[in-house]
Amino acid sequence: MGASNEKDNTLKYFAMKNESASRRDFLLTALLAGAAAGCSSPYNPFESDTTGPASGEKVKLLSVDGEIIEVDRAFLKPVPDLPAVSNKEARLGIPGKKFVMVIDLSRCKSVRKCQSACNHMHHIHSGQNWIKVYPMQDAEHTAPYWQPTTCMHCDEPPCVKVCPVDATFKRQDGIVLIDSDRCIGCRFCMAACPYSTRVFNWESPDTVTEEMSQQPYSCESSMPQKKGTVGKCDFCPDMTRQGELPHCVSACPNGVFFFGDMNQDTVTNGAETFRFSELVKDKAGYRLMEDLGTKPSVYYLPPVNRNFPFESGLEKDSTGHPIKQIN
Ligand code: SF4
Ligand code: SF4
Repeated sequence: MGASNEKDNTLKYFAMKNESASRRDFLLTALLAGAAAGCSSPYNPFESDTTGPASGEKVKLLSVDGEIIEVDRAFLKPVPDLPAVSNKEARLGIPGKKFVMVIDLSRCKSVRKCQSACNHMHHIHSGQNWIKVYPMQDAEHTAPYWQPTTCMHCDEPPCVKVCPVDATFKRQDGIVLIDSDRCIGCRFCMAACPYSTRVFNWESPDTVTEEMSQQPYSCESSMPQKKGTVGKCDFCPDMTRQGELPHCVSACPNGVFFFGDMNQDTVTNGAETFRFSELVKDKAGYRLMEDLGTKPSVYYLPPVNRNFPFESGLEKDSTGHPIKQIN
């Protein structure tokens, strides 16, 4: 298998983001990369007020040509936050991308940081989870293991086919989303999903911040969830649009989740980057319920040569209390 830290240029910003201190730094460097490579944007970060003496501190950037370049930090200057995308853009998705996830079951010990980060960042109502972590055992004499389960972002999604009001849809970048402004709560999609990944919002979220309530709803951020509609894992499209990893990927301390772009054949967990095709071939990756023809965008690596015994940290949390399993 070929670890491709040197050669792969895709998603380098994810790795660089991990090294940098803030999201603003990341946005700044990503945008500068475009400008430095001859982007036609009228914004020029090298303009007059940034041409002072060099600091000597180099920042690595990814150019639009996929080259890693180094620029002196003194030549960077702040840029405004990216504008919110329109509903039309949110429904279309990001051109040229085909997002894919790889979940390495050999690394999972059910710490559930993925779940808590997802719940927290999406303000999901307590008692609900978009990521489920199932205890699995394939046969009587085989070893048990943990299986985190997200929306599979199927390329042939049954949920989309049954929605009567076009509230759930598939984008060109492969992500399946729900527009809560359109959803009428009929739950046809829940019945159609063979992976039981969708949840019904019986209640409004427990916490809706004032800032959140004042922002126009975007199906790209899925917030706030609305009472009487359906929710599910969305691959954090607002994060991916900014070149950042989904919350579950960043939160997992064991590097279980890899995320990336199939078109550029690269996936990363933030610390390690692989060719997607080599990773799933070399480690015998597979998808769930392949025979249904749903063509999931989520691949699993089998739970062989496990990093942790199945029991580790499962029955009790860090305070010694039994872990309540909510799936
Ligand atoms: S519950 Fe909402 S998203 Fe699901 S099928 Fe009905 S209208 Fe569509
Ligand atoms: S896993 Fe279920 S909800 Fe997600 S795209 Fe596939 S059918 Fe739809």
